[in-house]
Amino acid sequence: MKIVLAELSHETNTYSTVPTDLARFSGASGLPPEGEKALDIYRDTASCLGGYIKVCEAENHEIVLAVAGGAAPSGPVFDDAYEYISEKILTAISAGCDAIMLDLHGAMVTQSFEDGEGELLRRIRKIAPDVPVAVCLDMHANIYPDMVTLATVVCGYHTYPHVDMDTTAERAGELLLRSIAGEINPLMAWGNVPMLPHVMRQGTDDSPNRELQARAMELEKSDALAVSLFTGFPHADIVNAGLSVVVVVDGDAALANRLRDELLEAAWNVRETFVYTPEPLVDSVTRAKLAGEANPGAPVLILDHYDNTASGGTMDTTDVLAEVLRQDLKDVAVFAIYDPAAAQTIADAGVGNEVSVSLGAKLAMPALEKQSQPLQLSGRVKLISDGRFTTTVAMSRGLVMSMGLSVVFSVGEVDIVVISRHVEPYDPGVFTSLGIVPQQRRFLMLKSRIHYRVGFRDLVAEVVECAGCGVCTSDYSQIEFKNVRRPIYPLDGDNFN
Ligand SMILES: [Zn+2]
Repeated sequence: MKIVLAELSHETNTYSTVPTDLARFSGASGLPPEGEKALDIYRDTASCLGGYIKVCEAENHEIVLAVAGGAAPSGPVFDDAYEYISEKILTAISAGCDAIMLDLHGAMVTQSFEDGEGELLRRIRKIAPDVPVAVCLDMHANIYPDMVTLATVVCGYHTYPHVDMDTTAERAGELLLRSIAGEINPLMAWGNVPMLPHVMRQGTDDSPNRELQARAMELEKSDALAVSLFTGFPHADIVNAGLSVVVVVDGDAALANRLRDELLEAAWNVRETFVYTPEPLVDSVTRAKLAGEANPGAPVLILDHYDNTASGGTMDTTDVLAEVLRQDLKDVAVFAIYDPAAAQTIADAGVGNEVSVSLGAKLAMPALEKQSQPLQLSGRVKLISDGRFTTTVAMSRGLVMSMGLSVVFSVGEVDIVVISRHVEPYDPGVFTSLGIVPQQRRFLMLKSRIHYRVGFRDLVAEVVECAGCGVCTSDYSQIEFKNVRRPIYPLDGDNFN
C-alpha cells in the first residue's frame, strides 16, 4: 500500500508572544523536512513519525512522508506557516494513497482557526473522503469534534513526560492497518468534562494522572482498541480547552460510550487533586538554598516553572535567576535564558574575557500585568557553541536539538547558559554539550515544568518549584480566560448549577 505520513504539530499558548512562523517548524534552518530527508531524520527515533515509519516499513508499505512540521510551543501559528505545511500534506494526498497517518499535537490554534487539526482534517476529507486516517495526539491535546469524527482512529500518549510518542504512533498505525485489512471495525466515542487540570499536576509519575492513565491502558488491553485520556492544555484560551477522553472500540458503539463515561467520571471525581498552589518565590529559593547547603550529595533543582519552552514560554524571564543571585547561591548551573542578542554580545567578547550585558526580558508579555526585568550583569565568557546535540533520553531519542548560538556566561558562581533558539531542558545534553557536568553542581536551575523529569529527576537530590514570571504562569489568576467554556473547574469553583 501507499501510505502518506505527515506531521503538523504545535501546542499553542494563546498568551504567548513567541512568534510561530514557518522557521519555527523548520529545525535549525531551511524549510520543514520532507521525503527521503525526513525519513532519514525520523527513522529509529522516539517520535511519532519514528513510530509510524516503523509500522509501515515492517510491512513493506510504500511511504510518502509529505512533511515533518513540528514546532516548539509558542503563540498562535501564523497563517502562512499553517498554509505551507497544510498544502504539502494535501498535495501528497491528492496524488493518491491508500492510508494516511498523521502526527498532530492536538492543541494548535492558528491566526484563523481555533482547531488547527480539525481544519486540516476537514480539508483532507474534501479531497479524500474515504481514505482511512490515523491520528496520534499529545496528552495535552484540546479536543474538538472534527479531530475525532473525521479520523478513523485517534490515539494519545499515556505518559507525561512524553516517553511514549513512538509507541502511541505504532498503536495508531497498527490499528489503521488492521482496519484496512478488515480485521477490526474501529468506532470512536469522545467527550469532555469542564475542568482545566493544572499542568504541574499532570505528571504521570504522580496521582491522579498516574492512576487515570493506568486505567486507560488497562482498558486498552481488555475491552477497547485504544483509550486516550487527554489532560489538555490550559494556557489556550479557547472553547474546548481541558480534559477529554477518546475511546476506540471494535464495532460496539455502546461500549465506546460506556468506557468514555467511566474515564470522564473518574477524572471529574479527582478534579481537586489536579489543582496546584504556588509558593512565594523568596520562600522557595530560601528553601532551595538551605537544601543545597545541607550538602545532600546531589544537586538541588530549582524549577522555574512559569517560563518553560514546552508550554510556550518566552524563556527569557529573569525573576527566579534574579532571586538566586540576590540570595547568593553558590555553584549554580542555569538553563537557560533565551536572548540571541545577548548571546551574540557575549560570544563577540571571546572566551576568557569579561563582558557586561543586559540579559533577558526582551519579549513583551501583554497577557500579564507583571513584566520581567532585564538583568544588568557582568561576567566571564566560559564557552561558545553552535548549540547542537543529539538527544539520548527516552523522549525524542535520536533527534538533533538546536539551541542556536549558545554561550556559558559565568557571573560569580552562577554559570548561565544563554541560547538563541528555544529548547526545553529534558536531556542533560543541554548542559553536557556545553561542558557543564550537571551532577557535579550544587544547584541546577531549569526552565521546565514536568519534562525535566526525563533526564534530570534521577540526577538531583531534591526539586524546589519556584514561581517566577511568564506566560506559562502556574497562577491562573494572572491570566484572563475569556473564551473557554464556562463554568469550568477550578476557575468557577464547584458552581455548576
Ligand atoms: Zn504535551
